[in-house]
Amino acid sequence: MAIEVRSNDRVDIVDVTSDVADIVAGEMQRGICTVYVPHTTAGVIVNEREERLCSDIKNALERLVPRDEGYGHDSIDDNADAHLRATLLGESVTIPVRSGELALGTWQSILFVDCDGPRTRRLQVTVVEGCVGE
Ligand code: ZN
Repeated sequence: MAIEVRSNDRVDIVDVTSDVADIVAGEMQRGICTVYVPHTTAGVIVNEREERLCSDIKNALERLVPRDEGYGHDSIDDNADAHLRATLLGESVTIPVRSGELALGTWQSILFVDCDGPRTRRLQVTVVEGCVGE
């Protein structure tokens, strides 16, 4: 299944936890859920959705991969920093499902990170039933 996400800034963090939880609800008792970003300038992480932390994450991305460094890909479409930031974030996360719910930690949320917004993106959510383990 897919989730449509709208980012509002060039670098924007959008909490998609409830959208993913809605897809998982009622699908199965135990298993895993993956959230996959089929884009090359965005990523997804599991972390705390706290306003100052989200600002810190954006600032850290800017420090790690500055916008204007004269990257080779900038001559193509001027967004090399977004591609590089996306590689640091990763394109998918996996969350255990227990009792039909996402088994996230207390402070964990599923955060979509757009590095080249604003735009509308689609995330792919896949649920797999029947894992053995905890
Ligand atoms: Zn590009």
